Amino acid sequence: MKPSERFAKKVWRKPPKKDSKGHKVPNKSGVGKCAICKQQISSSKSKLARRNFSPAKSTIRTNRPYGGYICTKCLKVQAIEQTRALAVAEK
Ligand SMILES: [Zn+2]
Repeated sequence: MKPSERFAKKVWRKPPKKDSKGHKVPNKSGVGKCAICKQQISSSKSKLARRNFSPAKSTIRTNRPYGGYICTKCLKVQAIEQTRALAVAEK
């Protein structure tokens, strides 16, 4: 047993026509990280992997394009670069 799994919650699931089997559920799923700079997104909230507490989707990540996937700094840089590329292509 891994030390991280010591206090993990165990759930029992019974597949059809088979005996029930215990599965370890991780205590927490991680906080969101930026896909570009790999830094932790401050607005993202760690969600409990257990189903007994599931917060609202809007509280887990921000409600904007690429929210919870790319941080604001990287999104700003990307938006500026892509609009400049579009302007060059139109000329
Ligand atoms: Zn970033």
